[in-house]
Amino acid sequence: MKGDFNPFEMAQAQFDKVADQLNLDQATKDLLRNPLREYHFSIPVRMDDGSYKVFRGFRVQHNDAKGPNKGGIRFHPQETVDTVRALAMWMTWKCAVVNIPLGGGKGGVICDPHNLSMHEQEQICRGWVRQLAKNIGPINDVPAPDVMTSAQHMLWMLDEYEAVSGSKFPGVITGKPVGMGGSLGRTEATGFGLIYTVREALKLLNIDPANTSTSVQGFGNVAQYAIRLINQLGGKVICVSCWDQEDQTSYSFKKEDGIDLDELLGITDRFGGIEKDKAKELGYEVLDGDAWIEQEVEILLPCALENQIREDNVVKIKDSVKVIGEGANGPTTPEADKVIEEKGIFMIPDFLANAGGVTCSYFEQVQCNMNYYWEKDEVLDRLDTKMTAAFHAVSDLSKKRKLYMRDAAYVIAIQRVAQACKDRGWV
Ligand code: NAD
Repeated sequence: MKGDFNPFEMAQAQFDKVADQLNLDQATKDLLRNPLREYHFSIPVRMDDGSYKVFRGFRVQHNDAKGPNKGGIRFHPQETVDTVRALAMWMTWKCAVVNIPLGGGKGGVICDPHNLSMHEQEQICRGWVRQLAKNIGPINDVPAPDVMTSAQHMLWMLDEYEAVSGSKFPGVITGKPVGMGGSLGRTEATGFGLIYTVREALKLLNIDPANTSTSVQGFGNVAQYAIRLINQLGGKVICVSCWDQEDQTSYSFKKEDGIDLDELLGITDRFGGIEKDKAKELGYEVLDGDAWIEQEVEILLPCALENQIREDNVVKIKDSVKVIGEGANGPTTPEADKVIEEKGIFMIPDFLANAGGVTCSYFEQVQCNMNYYWEKDEVLDRLDTKMTAAFHAVSDLSKKRKLYMRDAAYVIAIQRVAQACKDRGWV
């Protein structure tokens, strides 16, 4: 938790607002504004120098009325249970808005992988699973990678779960390496999923993607695949921004007639940082980090961090902008949302726009449980179908009830989960 900001209180406030609009009864509200279950535990680890250290771990299962809980595990020195609770609740809404039969979960360990050897990290992964082996599983709670955890961490966790349970359960965890139970298409899924929704928004607005320019914040996994698909649809991307590790600040890279994705990838590190001197040599203008937001484009894609479109910089958005697609989680503050709504910009909210990742994780779980793996095209076709249907359900409701897209997405998600709880006779 940073300073006084409490993400769980924010997640509860967002829920309360929609719950009131939906006139949910008190019991349903009480059920949904808190996690169903949470586990707090200690993970003792024998460190490489022979000493022992104890790490704190968590798993929060927010709601599983629609299916097994789903959500990542993050390793972070500032991890708090309130962050995990908020993220678990947001996972419930994200799975519900794309209508996949999963609930919301999230896990974490308070640790800093930068100061841990791979062997020590492996012990934390195995310890996390040993503490929770009875409470997770392919049909009750399926973890995945998140901040500072990778496919390798997932494989260690899978291995420990299978060792403890004495059987093969590839569907217990997702985000595994391809060839070890991972799904083809997972790398592309979030960026492509984002553009499937942008493509549908453009159709509604009668805009040909080939006549659009886009500006993107971020140049990591989500941004790179979003740009690839925009280019395939005929659109050009004129500006991208990223964090510069050396200068400890962000820069924007601009080419008015369109960036060349493969050329830029050739001078980008694995953290999505672009080498600015080489970019200059290739003819890119190097501008300050905020320049991405003030471009004369039709589409803005914040794909880096939370809290990036705020009251102070939302006014810089040009009148040419017609669509904002939130690849990142939480990039827009509520104050900026008001301005965007007034300007009539078509907002595709984060938990809909970036749900391609969890949808593909769901496909990974399905493939693992069948022990039969799909070709990449099949995965991406199914992803397109799911994202397109989810987008239209939200945009139809937004039109019918004259709701801002973010509110419409919340209404659909919360209604679906509330109904599932009711149908089961819980409340
Ligand atoms: P990534 O680490 O691959 O890339 C992050 C990019 O953001 C990098 O290019 C980095 O340089 C840039 N960046 C960091 N700080 C910046 C700043 N201040 N200004 C401009 N650029 C900055 O991360 P990613 O996987 O692409 O994820 C991006 C966002 O999307 C995150 O909010 C993440 O939570 C969200 N998201 C990702 C996925 C997924 O499947 N990868 C799924 C859902 C949501």
